[in-house]
Amino acid sequence: MTDRLMPPSHPFDFDAIDPDGDGDTLHEECGIFGVIGAADAANFVALGLHALQHRGQEAGGIVAHHPETGFNSARRFGYVRDNFTKQSLMETLPGPLAIGHVRYSTAGSKGQTAIRDVQPFFGEFSMGGAAIAHNGNITNADSLRRELIERGSIFQSSSDSECIIHLMARSLQRDIPARMEDALRRVEGAFSVVAMTRTKLIGVRDPLGVRPLVLGKLGGEDHGGWVLSSETCALDIIGAEYVREIEPGEMVVITAEHGVQSHHPFRPARPRFCIFEHVYFSRPDSIIGGRSVYETRRQIGVELAKEAPVEADLVCPVPDSGTPAAIGFSQESGIPYAMGIVRNQYMGRTFIEPTEQIRNMGVRLKLNVNRALIEGKRVILVDDSVVRGTTSRKIKEMILDAGAAEVHFRIASPPTAWPCFYGVDTPNREKLLAATMSEDEMRDHLGVDSLRFISLDGLYRAVGEAKGRNATQPQYCDACFSGEYPVVPADMIEKGFQMKAAE
Ligand code: SF4
Repeated sequence: MTDRLMPPSHPFDFDAIDPDGDGDTLHEECGIFGVIGAADAANFVALGLHALQHRGQEAGGIVAHHPETGFNSARRFGYVRDNFTKQSLMETLPGPLAIGHVRYSTAGSKGQTAIRDVQPFFGEFSMGGAAIAHNGNITNADSLRRELIERGSIFQSSSDSECIIHLMARSLQRDIPARMEDALRRVEGAFSVVAMTRTKLIGVRDPLGVRPLVLGKLGGEDHGGWVLSSETCALDIIGAEYVREIEPGEMVVITAEHGVQSHHPFRPARPRFCIFEHVYFSRPDSIIGGRSVYETRRQIGVELAKEAPVEADLVCPVPDSGTPAAIGFSQESGIPYAMGIVRNQYMGRTFIEPTEQIRNMGVRLKLNVNRALIEGKRVILVDDSVVRGTTSRKIKEMILDAGAAEVHFRIASPPTAWPCFYGVDTPNREKLLAATMSEDEMRDHLGVDSLRFISLDGLYRAVGEAKGRNATQPQYCDACFSGEYPVVPADMIEKGFQMKAAE
């Protein structure tokens, strides 16, 4: 193993539009990627992780296996581009099989990741080693950890994902995929997993399929192989062909000799994919459920314009995630689309270690208003979500300072009133604006002329459910909007979290 401690290279995350660091942005917590059957698979994994960087910027790791040198790993703080592009590092990760992980911060040492919390995790078993990378959140991790520690397990990290390795160690099954099945049957919550042994690449999705995982194929004589990825955009970067999604509750075991073998180790359940992946987390150039994420977001804008029309002169996105919805709103309403707010793409490289004075400039560092466009205009601002509302207020002030006559917010998701326990970092419930205020109160709090959110039904229509949300059997996880959690968050309830009372 070639791990080496490195200090965080990006103590201040300029790539998120939450430069105050006050939790006013939702963060997907992980991206996972794996390759088998390609020369120097770790190089492909590094490129895949780079394409998944939006899912986690705090740290990344790669484990690779070579028949002669065995397992090697590298884990680093900071961006993939700053670490896993160095030849000297990549040469330590040889072999035709590799997996990788980028993280924001999972359950564990939130905001203060220790290198020991950076995945993939590795375990040595009697039948050989295995490494795993996990996207999601285990909702019964606290009780599992207590039980495992009582029985003698020694944890190396504070991550919920490490439970999987210890559960595998206790399994009596004779091969690693079977041990993994045993382990994952004990786990509750959301998990997409990419794992590897000396000869196998393994992919698993939880029975509800909350987090995404797709299968791809690498062609060509020199690097034929298989790929597992959180999103299709990361297949594109390495020239892999999209094959299909891993089904909810499916485990695929892939070998160079036999290709893809599919198992269904869990009791069948109705899928509940995370609807927020469509709104915000996934990249707009990814495909989910056969639908372009960009097109879904544009359609959200169309629905919003139908549900919440307003007389105005311009439709402007809050860049970048509000852009497709703003385009859809403009197309449906006939109100001209304009780049009224411009995002500075290069902040991250300009101020790696900002002074306090620069930090205090907050959102202005990242976004600037196009005054010549805005002055005297009635402006519709389209954003993906309102979390705590602090960024929305600052953006509204910037627009008014630039001379706008009116500011109307249109939000491409329903009010976020509940925290996510399935792998997305959300503030505590009391810090969510929509948990404590009505829509009118939020409008007054933000100080805008009008504020409207897309309805849950409108969002469901935009993702392709023509009849909207099925109230008794929702087609997606939408717990952060509805408070209806498809998996009981056992650990959080133990800590005092109160679920919504049944109606
Ligand atoms: S609670 Fe919200 S963010 Fe979390 S999985 Fe469900 S829909 Fe996605």
